Amino acid sequence: MKRLNFFIILSTLIITACAQNTGSGSAGITIIRSDSIEIPDTIPNYLLLGQYDPAKEEGFTRIADQYTTKSNIYMRTEAYEAFLAMRDSAKNDGITLTIVSATRTFEMQKWIWEGKWNGKRRVEGKYLNVAYPDPTERALAILRYSSMPGTSRHHWGTDIDINSVVPSYFQTAQGKKELAWLETNANYFGYYRPYTEYGENRQTGYQPEEWHWSYLPLAVPLQNAYKRQIQSIDIKGFDGDEAVFATKVISNYVFGIDRSCFILPEKFKQ
Ligand SMILES: [Zn+2]
Repeated sequence: MKRLNFFIILSTLIITACAQNTGSGSAGITIIRSDSIEIPDTIPNYLLLGQYDPAKEEGFTRIADQYTTKSNIYMRTEAYEAFLAMRDSAKNDGITLTIVSATRTFEMQKWIWEGKWNGKRRVEGKYLNVAYPDPTERALAILRYSSMPGTSRHHWGTDIDINSVVPSYFQTAQGKKELAWLETNANYFGYYRPYTEYGENRQTGYQPEEWHWSYLPLAVPLQNAYKRQIQSIDIKGFDGDEAVFATKVISNYVFGIDRSCFILPEKFKQ
């Protein structure tokens, strides 16, 4: 059984002593055996917050160079296998799927965030430290596309960006064709899009991301653990972390996802 390594598998033996009294003094006994009940153990916070090295973490696989534009990036093994199956299927339809980002650690996200926060890199043509002296406004400008360290789904090893992270790419004929293929087929392989257009299915969060896909069979348990275990006070350790509370980063961004991503679809339950 392939599962997250922090699941423990319990075989349960439930013995129910029925109340049927035969009159002879012996009780009827019903035995129900279930061989594969999964009970999620507590998921350590460091896995939820990206504070680990995926190269050293059990359950992660290095993405082969031919499937990614990056080098030396990792994702959870089961999500990777599902991606490879999806990629083969796409290839048969003349579509190429390439991973442009996968697992990102807290440190990587901190580098991205602080580059924007401190004006080392422009965002949509602006130096945000100059354009937005107010911390909340500056954080909201970054949060259009980038996560605060500690709040990215990329910390979980379950989420990937496919083919491009440039919105206009998905307005090109090729980008449209690839997105259409994914919209039709990705769910079959367990991949869902969390950052869909705003509307009935998603009210808050990042701008729509046509490129970001999440492997729900593993992401949903992690997401549920995040909800149980992580609070705003845990999101800290980077320039601009004073904006955590005002931006409601957990409720509006971590959980600012498409309605379809909250619950594991029935077909993936084991
Ligand atoms: Zn992404």
